[in-house]
Formats: sequence, C-alpha cells, structure tokens
Amino acid sequence: MPTLLTAKNGKPDLKGLTEREFLELAEDLGLPPYRGRQLARWVFVRGSRSFDEMTDLPKDLRPRLAESCTITHLVPETFQASRDGIRKFLFRTSVGHPFESVLIPDSGRLTLCLSVQAGCRMGCAFCATGTLGLLEQLKAASIVDQYLAARRAAPEERMTNLVFMGMGEPLDNYEEVARALRILTHPAWLAVSPRRITVSTCGLVPAMTRFKAEFPQVRLAVSLGAPDDERRNQLIPVNKKYPLAVLLDACRQIHLPPRQRITFEYCLLSGVNDSPEDASRLGELLKGIRCKVNLIPFNESPGLPYRRPEAAVVNRFAALLSKVGMTVTVRESRGRDIDAACGQLAGKFSPGPNSTARIPLTDPPRGRID
Ligand code: SF4
Repeated sequence: MPTLLTAKNGKPDLKGLTEREFLELAEDLGLPPYRGRQLARWVFVRGSRSFDEMTDLPKDLRPRLAESCTITHLVPETFQASRDGIRKFLFRTSVGHPFESVLIPDSGRLTLCLSVQAGCRMGCAFCATGTLGLLEQLKAASIVDQYLAARRAAPEERMTNLVFMGMGEPLDNYEEVARALRILTHPAWLAVSPRRITVSTCGLVPAMTRFKAEFPQVRLAVSLGAPDDERRNQLIPVNKKYPLAVLLDACRQIHLPPRQRITFEYCLLSGVNDSPEDASRLGELLKGIRCKVNLIPFNESPGLPYRRPEAAVVNRFAALLSKVGMTVTVRESRGRDIDAACGQLAGKFSPGPNSTARIPLTDPPRGRID
C-alpha cells in the first residue's frame, strides 16, 4: 500500500523528505531500502537536480522517478553584494512570493541567515518583513534549498553557522522548520551541526518549549524588544498573548545542555527603549536565566517610524547590562546598503506575476499560533 505516492500527497518533493520518507518512497516503488538512501545522497550530497544525473540508479527507474517526484531547485532572481561583504539572495515561491537569504562573512565564520516564510504575520513594529503580513509559509524543501543555493553560489567557502532569522517567524511554521532541521542536520546528508544553528522567535511560548524539547542542541534566540509589557505589546504584538512573565518563566524552565545559553535579542530604538532605566529593568528581568543579550541597534527602513540610537547610547546600554553581570554583544549592522541588515528584509520587488493576495494578520493561521 503506497504511503507517499498517493494522489492526495501530490508529487513528493525530494528536498523536503526525511530519511523515513525516502525509505517509504523506495518501498512504494517496489525497491529495496538502500535505493531510498542512494536517492537521498544524490539529492543532498551531490546536489542533483535531475533524475538523469543519478547514474547508479537503474535506467528504467529514472523516468519512473521523474514521473512521480519533483526536486525543488531555487534559482535566485537577484543577487546583491554589499560594500561590507554581505551577499543577499532573492527567491520566489512557485506562486511568486518573495523571500530572501543572506550570507554574512565574519572573522573566519560564514553565517547563512534563512527565511521560513514569505512575509510574516507577527507584526513586530521595528521589522520591515512584518509590514508585508504573511504571504506564504515556506515548505521544508525551500528552506533546505536556500542552504544548497548558497553553497552553489559560494562553493569554495564553508558555511559555519545557520541562523533562522530571515523573513518569518520559525515557530509559526513549526512542522516545515522541524523537517528542514532534521534534513540539514542528518549526519549522512548535509551534516550541519545542530550546535551551529540558531532559531529565533518573537516569543510563541508553547511552540518554543516544544522546540527546545525536540531540538535541545539547536540554539534558541528570543526577541525581547522592551523590558515591560506596555511597550512590548506595542513593539511585539504577540506579547499580548504571551506576556513577559510567561515568556521568561518558560525560558527559566527550559533545560539547556551544558554551556548553552539562550540569546535575548533587544532591538534598540532611539528614545523608545534605550534609556539607562530600561537597561536596569532588562538586567533585573533576566536574572537567573542562563543567557546572553544581543543588542541590535535599529536598522532604519523606509516606512518604519523609528530611529537608530547614537553609538554612545548603545555603548552606555551595553555597559549598564555588563555591570549587572550580563554577557552582552552588540550586533554589527552590515549590509545596510542592500537592505540586508537585521529587520530590513522585505522582498522589495514587484509581487510577481502569479502572486496571490497576502494573508492578513487577522486570518486564521495555517498552523495555530500556540
Ligand atoms: Fe516576523 Fe521576526 Fe519580523 Fe517579528 S521580527 S515581524 S517575527 S520576521
């Protein structure tokens, strides 16, 4: 009884399949399990995009595979390089919605920032992506293929880190993100170390707790934005559902592997959340949580009403947090000339010929916010 190859499933996309599903696919096709593993290696290790390339598969099998399966192959619509070495790729989904990924070289490291949705419905007030609303959830195959596309574009360079901090809220597309993580970290496929992956959330508490239970080695970053509920409600609307006390209590309950810390991201907005009192409150709030704070001076973006604080204000904020024992880093803003810095990804291009209307914030989510 076929499990994957049913009309209901449509054609399975091999770049989005887990190991178990490759074995099911082999069974559906009447093949021994090792053929499923062979197929997976062609897709993920050798980066094949057509079944004809799979020369160690029987000749008569290749057309059968081509008939019943597909292989996503993202080709960037545009590629931009910033003056300071950041590279940004713009892709489109099959219906034309834009999404972006960014390659960031930094003192011996090469980090890829991935998108998980086209747009985002979380509506964080300081984020250009949030102004789009949710256009489309990305499938695991498209998440994984952002990694493969970056590797194709920079074959000489070794990507050292992956961050799920591009367009979209990863925990609002939980199943596809989880599937992509299983594929990316599979030791015989892409073998990305889970310790070198960070998933960032604006604070979807139950999904965050579930995520850390299922992926304990993957690092968690939480966007805080303000040290009190009143301002956080304005800046990160999901706070109305999961206020700071609930969020931080959940963070305290997470069982972290040795030497791992939660990163709290704090976007500094001039005159809004960057006072010395705010730094003290933040230090108080985070007491007792094994964490570090990553300060992100706001990257100005057309249409967003905030300003970037002066460097002296950022340094004072960082110093006050350090003084109360917090580990603090200030994120360098790079790629601003190509709108590739944190919070600037907005797929600023025409909506694409087949683009459907955006999914408004008020629509029932495709996956619940929970
Ligand atoms: Fe969405 Fe993240 Fe932007 Fe918030 S900061 S709107 S969660 S992409």
